[in-house]
Amino acid sequence: MPARYLTTNPCEDACGTVETDRRVEDAPVYRCPGCDSEWIELGERTPPASRPTTAPRPAAERTADAPRRPAGPSGD
Ligand SMILES: [Zn+2]
Repeated sequence: MPARYLTTNPCEDACGTVETDRRVEDAPVYRCPGCDSEWIELGERTPPASRPTTAPRPAAERTADAPRRPAGPSGD
């Protein structure tokens, strides 16, 4: 599982994993007791799809240009 490191220290795989009380992006922060690296598992974040994304758009996207008529002869 991909992880994002918050604190990166030389880790030689001899370290372990402890779960901290902290959370980043709603994912639990893990810490390595050997080298004090800290990271989160990207798969444990809250997916952004759970947030409401239906924000009302400002109605400023109207086309201000009205279709112009060709200027014809306006009389004799
Ligand atoms: Zn380590």
